[in-house]
Amino acid sequence: MSTSENHWSNLVGEAARRFALRRHRLFIDGVWRDPAEGATFETFDPSSGTVITSVADAGPVDVDAAVRAARAAFESSAWKRMTPVDRGRLLNRLADLIESNAQELAELESLDNGKPLSAALNGDVPGTAKLFRYFAGWPSKLEGATIPVSPSGGRQFLNYTRSEPVGVCGLIVPWNFPLSMAAWKLAPALAAGCGCILKPAEQTPLTALRLAELIAEAGFPAGIVNVLTGRGATAGAALVDHPGVDKIAFTGSTQVGKQIARKCADSLKRVTLELGGKSPNIILPDADPADVADAAATAIFYNQGQVCTAGSRLYIHKKHFDRVIADVAAKAQSIRIGPGLEAGTQMGPLVSSLQHQRVSDYVEIGRSEGGTTVTGGARPQDRPDGYFFEPTVFVDAGDSARVVKEEIFGPVLTAMPWNDIDDLVSRANDSPFGLAAGVWTRDVKDAHRIAARLKAGTVWVNCYNVTDPASPFGGFKESGWGRELGRKGLENYLETKSVWVNLD
Ligand code: ADP
Repeated sequence: MSTSENHWSNLVGEAARRFALRRHRLFIDGVWRDPAEGATFETFDPSSGTVITSVADAGPVDVDAAVRAARAAFESSAWKRMTPVDRGRLLNRLADLIESNAQELAELESLDNGKPLSAALNGDVPGTAKLFRYFAGWPSKLEGATIPVSPSGGRQFLNYTRSEPVGVCGLIVPWNFPLSMAAWKLAPALAAGCGCILKPAEQTPLTALRLAELIAEAGFPAGIVNVLTGRGATAGAALVDHPGVDKIAFTGSTQVGKQIARKCADSLKRVTLELGGKSPNIILPDADPADVADAAATAIFYNQGQVCTAGSRLYIHKKHFDRVIADVAAKAQSIRIGPGLEAGTQMGPLVSSLQHQRVSDYVEIGRSEGGTTVTGGARPQDRPDGYFFEPTVFVDAGDSARVVKEEIFGPVLTAMPWNDIDDLVSRANDSPFGLAAGVWTRDVKDAHRIAARLKAGTVWVNCYNVTDPASPFGGFKESGWGRELGRKGLENYLETKSVWVNLD
């Protein structure tokens, strides 16, 4: 442990260091338990490629114990009879605890995922607190309706609806925003009154484990939230297969999302899926090229490009093409690459060696298909260790090239010129994905017309990658099923019950 510790231990505070290096177990029924089979797996520091620590590797027996605990807690009077205001109070307390432990959480996130500490401290962690706070307001607003029914034969009924929690939810989250993605699922599930089993990604288990402690400290009843570190193919699959789980909420790859959907079809479990993207970012001729280049670079390079909404297909009107490409490339070259925990780092490493390989392979594929990299395309020369990759800009790739069609999930932009607006819209929509899109223009009519024509769950006009707990987020087409956040997101954790009362 000591050699790997050297890489990062003096870059984090004592709280994060102690937490990272303690013995990690599974959080089941409000207590820490060893996995039934005693298995563990390692989590890596992506800036050095060395092991940070080991965590418990949950198997089917542990999944079963967590599901039973969640079910018992969900059915318990402590939870069922808790007033909505008190449920909201717990969510607010959790938000308070996230805020008061922000530095530690941000350090753990940066250490485990590789992202710049500043991004975790200014983005992920306060965003997570805000999310719990937003959903804290919902339990007391889950109203039903009285329905003016029209029975035949002069009969009279009172008909009303109740919004009830869907039950026990399996929450499977990815590694790109580990803490935020956990909150995107836990906060609405808890606001709705569900029992939860959270499975973080195997690459980034640490903040979910720390969150489990904060959940206990906030006073949630034992068992209402269980946290299982484990692998997708074992713990994740066991959760999806478990008959005691009523709903799966998943964020991850389209490939795994499809597998989960197929399995949920068999059991008719409720399922929501937030999957991949290949989002078009469109620059209209009237946009100011000086303004948009910086934003277009941020749209793809933020979080090392490991963002499902990354603006990975940049469509630049041909009159601005050369200028914008030059500016985006200059911006890419100016980004300070380094370990996430080091001061001044603007771009950290990719999350894993597998992801590094994937991104490297895509660059080779892009070149072999006729694309040219105007900048980047390799590991930075001064970073021989860790999973670092240069911000990369491709031009000259044809519309059918794999780097235009497929999600890379790394800092790789493919830029294409366009001339005709109708042709542009059909090229932008020519994708199996439909997660997000950006439009840059000063023309208010064009902005709204194009926003309406794009097949995407989110369209950003003169901005990119903006989200809010109140605004629904999700994908068209193969980018997913359902929406997260806001009222729409909450509804996925509720069932509607229609109650008929005979008044005759
Ligand atoms: P990536 O390829 O980017 O790592 P994945 O879709 O494989 O994305 O992973 C996202 C989340 O889904 C992780 O928590 C992972 O453990 C989990 N997962 C992976 N495979 C499965 C599976 N077959 N069933 C359930 N969960 C899975």
